Amino acid sequence: MHEIGMCEGLLDLIEQRAAGRRITAVRLRVGARHAVVDEAFDQAFAVVADGTAVQDAVVDLEVVPVTVTCRTCERLSESLDVLAVCAHCGGDDVDISGGDELVLESVQFETTPRREDEPDVPRNPR
Ligand SMILES: [Zn+2]
Repeated sequence: MHEIGMCEGLLDLIEQRAAGRRITAVRLRVGARHAVVDEAFDQAFAVVADGTAVQDAVVDLEVVPVTVTCRTCERLSESLDVLAVCAHCGGDDVDISGGDELVLESVQFETTPRREDEPDVPRNPR
Protein backbone atom coordinates (compact mmCIF):
# COMPACT_ATOMS: atom_id res chain seq x y z
CA MET A 1 0.00 0.00 0.00
CA HIS A 2 2.07 2.94 -1.27
CA GLU A 3 -0.55 5.39 -0.03
CA ILE A 4 1.00 5.32 3.46
CA GLY A 5 4.33 6.73 2.29
CA MET A 6 2.51 9.29 0.22
CA CYS A 7 0.42 10.39 3.19
CA GLU A 8 3.45 10.66 5.45
CA GLY A 9 5.06 13.08 3.03
CA LEU A 10 1.88 15.09 2.72
CA LEU A 11 1.38 15.22 6.43
CA ASP A 12 4.82 16.80 6.86
CA LEU A 13 3.89 19.50 4.37
CA ILE A 14 0.51 20.10 5.96
CA GLU A 15 1.95 20.38 9.45
CA GLN A 16 4.56 22.85 8.27
CA ARG A 17 1.82 25.10 6.93
CA ALA A 18 -0.36 24.60 9.97
CA ALA A 19 2.31 25.75 12.42
CA GLY A 20 0.39 24.30 15.33
CA ARG A 21 -3.14 25.15 14.19
CA ARG A 22 -5.75 22.48 13.74
CA ILE A 23 -6.64 21.56 10.19
CA THR A 24 -10.27 21.26 9.11
CA ALA A 25 -9.87 20.53 5.41
CA VAL A 26 -7.18 19.59 2.93
CA ARG A 27 -7.38 19.68 -0.83
CA LEU A 28 -5.00 17.57 -2.87
CA ARG A 29 -4.30 17.08 -6.55
CA VAL A 30 -2.95 13.66 -7.32
CA GLY A 31 -1.89 12.53 -10.78
CA ALA A 32 -3.61 9.45 -12.17
CA ARG A 33 -0.16 7.91 -12.60
CA HIS A 34 0.02 7.44 -8.84
CA ALA A 35 -2.95 5.11 -9.19
CA VAL A 36 -4.31 6.16 -5.83
CA VAL A 37 -7.32 4.25 -4.63
CA ASP A 38 -9.68 6.59 -2.80
CA GLU A 39 -10.52 4.12 -0.08
CA ALA A 40 -6.92 3.06 0.49
CA PHE A 41 -5.89 6.68 0.57
CA ASP A 42 -8.54 7.57 3.14
CA GLN A 43 -7.45 4.67 5.33
CA ALA A 44 -3.77 5.50 4.99
CA PHE A 45 -4.43 9.13 5.75
CA ALA A 46 -6.44 8.25 8.84
CA VAL A 47 -3.59 6.05 10.10
CA VAL A 48 -0.89 8.62 9.44
CA ALA A 49 -2.91 11.61 10.70
CA ASP A 50 -4.07 9.93 13.88
CA GLY A 51 -3.04 11.97 16.90
CA THR A 52 -1.93 14.97 14.84
CA ALA A 53 -3.54 18.35 14.15
CA VAL A 54 -4.78 16.91 10.87
CA GLN A 55 -6.72 13.97 12.24
CA ASP A 56 -10.19 15.57 11.89
CA ALA A 57 -9.57 17.13 8.51
CA VAL A 58 -11.79 16.42 5.54
CA VAL A 59 -9.59 15.34 2.67
CA ASP A 60 -10.67 16.26 -0.82
CA LEU A 61 -8.78 14.30 -3.45
CA GLU A 62 -8.79 15.52 -7.01
CA VAL A 63 -7.30 13.12 -9.52
CA VAL A 64 -5.43 14.73 -12.41
CA PRO A 65 -5.74 12.75 -15.64
CA VAL A 66 -2.82 11.60 -17.78
CA THR A 67 -2.51 12.79 -21.35
CA VAL A 68 -2.75 10.05 -23.93
CA THR A 69 -1.01 10.77 -27.24
CA CYS A 70 -2.00 8.34 -29.97
CA ARG A 71 0.68 7.31 -32.48
CA THR A 72 -1.94 5.87 -34.80
CA CYS A 73 -4.36 8.77 -35.25
CA GLU A 74 -2.12 11.43 -33.63
CA ARG A 75 -4.88 12.80 -31.46
CA LEU A 76 -4.78 13.60 -27.76
CA SER A 77 -7.10 12.42 -25.06
CA GLU A 78 -7.14 12.30 -21.29
CA SER A 79 -7.60 9.34 -19.05
CA LEU A 80 -7.63 8.44 -15.38
CA ASP A 81 -6.23 5.04 -16.29
CA VAL A 82 -2.47 4.72 -16.77
CA LEU A 83 -3.08 1.72 -19.02
CA ALA A 84 -5.25 3.86 -21.26
CA VAL A 85 -5.87 3.33 -24.95
CA CYS A 86 -6.68 6.09 -27.44
CA ALA A 87 -10.14 7.53 -26.79
CA HIS A 88 -10.61 8.28 -30.48
CA CYS A 89 -9.55 5.15 -32.35
CA GLY A 90 -9.04 2.69 -29.49
CA GLY A 91 -5.42 2.12 -30.49
CA ASP A 92 -3.00 1.03 -27.80
CA ASP A 93 0.11 2.44 -29.46
CA VAL A 94 0.09 5.50 -27.23
CA ASP A 95 2.37 7.72 -25.21
CA ILE A 96 1.23 8.54 -21.70
CA SER A 97 2.41 11.80 -20.21
CA GLY A 98 1.64 13.95 -17.20
CA GLY A 99 -0.49 12.75 -14.34
CA ASP A 100 2.46 12.46 -11.99
CA GLU A 101 1.77 15.47 -9.80
CA LEU A 102 1.22 15.32 -6.09
CA VAL A 103 0.17 18.78 -4.99
CA LEU A 104 -1.08 20.12 -1.71
CA GLU A 105 -3.50 22.60 -3.19
CA SER A 106 -5.01 24.16 -0.09
CA VAL A 107 -5.23 23.74 3.63
CA GLN A 108 -8.03 25.11 5.77
CA PHE A 109 -7.37 25.95 9.38
CA GLU A 110 -9.74 26.02 12.27
CA THR A 111 -10.58 29.69 12.80
CA THR A 112 -11.65 29.65 16.42
CA PRO A 113 -9.42 28.14 19.07
CA ARG A 114 -10.62 24.81 20.27
CA ARG A 115 -11.96 24.89 23.83
CA GLU A 116 -10.77 22.23 26.18
CA ASP A 117 -14.28 21.44 27.45
CA GLU A 118 -15.76 21.06 23.98
CA PRO A 119 -16.89 17.50 23.33
CA ASP A 120 -14.95 15.75 20.64
CA VAL A 121 -17.56 15.17 17.96
CA PRO A 122 -16.44 13.11 15.01
CA ARG A 123 -16.89 14.95 11.74
CA ASN A 124 -17.52 11.85 9.67
CA PRO A 125 -19.66 9.40 11.62
CA ARG A 126 -19.78 6.03 9.90
ZN1 LIG B 1 -5.96 7.06 -31.90
